[in-house]
Amino acid sequence: METSVTSPPMGRDWAADRFRREPNPLATAEFRTLVNACIHCGLCLPACPTYDIFGTEMDAPRGRIALMRAAAEGRIPLDSPFVRHIELCLACRACETACPSGVQYGKLVERARVAIEQRRRPCRAERLLRRLALWELLPHRGRLRLLARLLWLYQASGLQRLVRALDLLPERLKVMEGLLPPLPARHPAYNRPAPALGERRGRVALFLGCVQDAFLSPVNEATVRVLQRNGYEVHFPPGQTCCGAAHLHVGEEAMARELARRNVDAFLAGEYEAVINNAGGCGAMLKEYGELLADDPAYAEKARRFSAQVQDIHEFLAAHLHEPPQGEVAVRVTYVDSCHLRHAQKVVQQPRDLLRQIPGLELVELQAPDRCCGSAGVYNLVHPEEAHQVLEAKVADVRRTGAQVVATSNAGCQLQMGYGVQRFGLPAQVVHVVELLDRAYRSPKAGSPSKGQP
Ligand code: SF4
Ligand code: SF4
Repeated sequence: METSVTSPPMGRDWAADRFRREPNPLATAEFRTLVNACIHCGLCLPACPTYDIFGTEMDAPRGRIALMRAAAEGRIPLDSPFVRHIELCLACRACETACPSGVQYGKLVERARVAIEQRRRPCRAERLLRRLALWELLPHRGRLRLLARLLWLYQASGLQRLVRALDLLPERLKVMEGLLPPLPARHPAYNRPAPALGERRGRVALFLGCVQDAFLSPVNEATVRVLQRNGYEVHFPPGQTCCGAAHLHVGEEAMARELARRNVDAFLAGEYEAVINNAGGCGAMLKEYGELLADDPAYAEKARRFSAQVQDIHEFLAAHLHEPPQGEVAVRVTYVDSCHLRHAQKVVQQPRDLLRQIPGLELVELQAPDRCCGSAGVYNLVHPEEAHQVLEAKVADVRRTGAQVVATSNAGCQLQMGYGVQRFGLPAQVVHVVELLDRAYRSPKAGSPSKGQP
């Protein structure tokens, strides 16, 4: 039989052909059950920041779930416009909190993104960039610290001021550069445990994070001091790595699972009362390792055990603040919730309660405290224009409070809000809640520190 290579016939949809040929990763009974929990009531719509901005049903949770259902049933292909609407979701999970039917939107959007990634054929340059950022950089603390050190030189040498004054960078790079916080000149070694101060009450392990450790190390240092002040010996398990949330956020599930295994091994090698983390996004991910590795026979039980030990710093301190701070921090503060702390971990009251324990501090609530700031993992880097609109609304809300300090509970929010106050000219300082607690413990009015105070 003669074979020949012919041009595709006019009007034939080759993308649709591929869609029909390959198995549909969303066509599972579990995904359909998740999707079918939605009863289309629309009560989640007012909570959704992207619905607020774009005003379109397909950029609201109900519309996105309808798209996911259509994709799972094979009525639409897993390429654009499906991809566009799913990618524009912040995955902030505010809709999950608002939903009276208990729809697990976080799981839905995560599965949809993994399915999109399985079908996508990214170009060579994108594959290389992803490999570099997600695999060669984020899981390597030393490399991230080296990058932070180089950027510290860029700041300390005055080059940053010059670059900003002359407006030298293209728009996308300008956003990335604007996210840089004032960087530390050096990073702590974390090569031995930090001792408890005063009465010893237990032993905890600290999850250092990746961006948190390299770019916001003063937050980790403050966390250690506050834990020490409350009687905890703080350990830093050496094999720990990035939590994998950024990987899962862009659909790289295999990488996320590998990082989860490394963290499980690192932390289960010691005996700790709790595994403490201070970044809402990382904490939500660490608490979900049990589910992420549920089908891995070698890790399912270990991952569940690990996740059960994970506690957000505010959650832990609210229950273990043995020595309330005595020093005064007389500032007007507003608190910006981390979406993953609020909507995924349901830690809402504890950061507020801790702030109220600080003498002299005045806490003023935002009008829309449940609104995302636009950081959302790597959303602000991948969709800078949309993130800018979300951020603008958040900064306007902060401005109304007249706060001098913006307190956050997640690395991404801290960077994004730092960029926001600078971009929109708001005279406010952006810090983590534990940095304010630490400030109160170290204030001269706090009295003499206990023996061994760092
Ligand atoms: S996760 Fe956030 S942005 Fe996405 S649909 Fe829900 S509320 Fe909207
Ligand atoms: S996700 Fe929940 S709140 Fe939103 S439309 Fe569906 S059932 Fe209603």
